[in-house]
Formats: sequence, structure tokens, C-alpha cells
Amino acid sequence: MQSKALVMAMAGVGLTLAAGSAQAQDTFEWKLVTSWPKNFPGVGQGPERLAKLVEEMSDGRLQIEVFGAGQLVPGFEVFDAVSEGTAEMGHSASYYWKGKAPAAQFFAAVPFGMNAQEMNAWLHYGGGLELWNELYDDFGVDVMAAGASGVQMGGWYNKEINSVDDLDGLKMRMPGLGGEVMNRMGVAIVNMPGGEIFTSLQSGAIDATEWIGPYNDLAFGLHQAADYYYYPGWHEPTVMFEAIVNEEAMASLPADLQAILRTAVRDVNQDVLDEYTARNNDALQTLINEHDVELRRLPDDVLAKAKEISADVVAELAESSDMASKIYDSYSAFQDKVESYHAISEQAYYNARNPDGDTTQ
Ligand code: CA
Repeated sequence: MQSKALVMAMAGVGLTLAAGSAQAQDTFEWKLVTSWPKNFPGVGQGPERLAKLVEEMSDGRLQIEVFGAGQLVPGFEVFDAVSEGTAEMGHSASYYWKGKAPAAQFFAAVPFGMNAQEMNAWLHYGGGLELWNELYDDFGVDVMAAGASGVQMGGWYNKEINSVDDLDGLKMRMPGLGGEVMNRMGVAIVNMPGGEIFTSLQSGAIDATEWIGPYNDLAFGLHQAADYYYYPGWHEPTVMFEAIVNEEAMASLPADLQAILRTAVRDVNQDVLDEYTARNNDALQTLINEHDVELRRLPDDVLAKAKEISADVVAELAESSDMASKIYDSYSAFQDKVESYHAISEQAYYNARNPDGDTTQ
């Protein structure tokens, strides 16, 4: 019986090989395009770490070459490049694709929405990742969560913001749903990739910008172009970064390389957040103590107005398509539950640990 089973198994292998499946010895050379400057701290390190891990774990069978924004394709063309197969992989953020699929914004950052810990829980244990993949199916793209920024900063302003009225007429770079909220608060929103922000702020083409947080903002030198650094980043309680893979390229990999790729992306997903959590603190101290940056909390009326308008903007997005509605229902139901629990866990603990709250003012 054993030999018969073996013969049948071998026959099965033969059929599989005849059908042209990948063999264990095959090597693959992939291109990974990103929306970040090459080797940029934090988010730009994610894809570099991914390529190194995958090469080590696969013993060189899957090699990934990482391209910074503009090296192979511009930063805002990463999704198209992966969808069309110009590159097998990409690393970016889904709100850049709102022109193709508005609902993609739910997976990057929702103003007053879920933070990194909560997003990871929704994506991996609350059905979020399945919905994200369903949304990208039309484009022939697989998606995985590949890093998070944590709560971002509110942004850099070249003048003090003491009330909602002070926002009126400002030109600001802020992507995604937050940008739409600011637009309804009288701000003219300008979209541009990260690499153009410093020059635009310094030349006065824009009056304000948000980017990520102290670690990345210091690296960009934004403190040389604006004096006031505002918090909190209500517009981006985290940004979730994405690893996107051309579906055909993914299917061409043998099962073990697919598993290696998924495992490495999951590692990078946590690692990027860890790096931000560690580095932002030191960078903020450097900005304040060495560069005399004026740290300011956004006024209560700005935060209250932003929250009010955010609810409208998110509700409108939810009504934009059946898929957007389905994603919104899942997202908001999960946020309601996790918020209730975090009120008596994370939030209660923060309050107990630091009863004086914000003492920086
Ligand atoms: Ca940002």
C-alpha cells in the first residue's frame, strides 16, 4: 500500500510540474516601489527590512529590490505600478488611492478613528483585512498591513493658531479625510508627496503642513521652515501603511515563499510602529531643546470643530458606495466596542499613571 501511495503521490507531483508550477529551487527577483524617499527613517525602513528578511528566510530564493519614490515610478503611482505589474510589490498608504477607490481611506487613517493598536486588532481579528482585500480585488492587488505611525502630530504652522478663525485662508498640505475636514474649516488643501514638503513650506507656497511625527519631521528639517509645532494629530490617530502585491506575482510563488513573505510583512508591521514609538520621543526633545521649536496644543475649539466636521465627512464617505458602507459598518462597530473597553483599560491606565495630564503648556 505504501508503495502505491508513493507512486500516486509522485504522479501527482509530475502533474503539478507539468502544469508549470514553481519549483522549490526557483528564484524570484522582485521590484518593490514605495511612496517614500529611499531609506527614509521609520516608514522607509519597513520595506528595506522586509527585503532583507525575505532574502534571509528564503535563502535567497526571493530577492526584493526596493525603490524610493521617483526612482522607478513617482510616489503617487505605486498602486498603478503594482496593479499593472510594472513592480511586483509596493509599500505605501491607502489614502493616496482615494481617486480610484474612495473607501480605501478607511484603511489608512480616519479622523478621530482607531489608533494603531485598535487598527491592528480590527484588521487581523475583526474582519478588516478581508474587506481591504475585497476592495483591492478589482485592481488585481493583494494587501497586507505593513507598519503604523502611531498617533501623528497636528502639524507645522508658520503662525500661531488660537482659534478656528486663525485657520481661515491658510494653505496646508494634509492628505486624506483630515484634509477634507480642514478644507471645510477654511483651509486650502494642497496635496504633494513627502519629498516636496520642505521646499513648499520654506518658499511660502504653503503656510502649514502635517507630515508624520517628530522622528520624520526632524529628518525633513521642517523646523527650519515653520516655528510652531501643533498636537495632537486628530486627523491621523495612526496611519496604517500597506504592503501591496500584484495578485499574479503572488500566485506565481510556491506556497513556502508566500508564507515567508506574509510572515516577514507581519514582522515589519510591528517593527515600524516600535521604531516610531522609540524614536519620536528623542526627536521631540531635540526639536524643543536644540532647535527652539514652539510646541503647542491645538485649541479646544479647533479640536471640537474638527471632530464635528469629521463625523460628517466620514458619514459622507460611508454613503459613497455599497462597499464603503460595508467597510464603514465594520470599522465603526469595531471602534465602538474597542473604545468602550479601552476607556476602562488603556485610557483609565494613562489617567492613573499621569493624573496631571498634559503638563507641557
Ligand atoms: Ca501624516
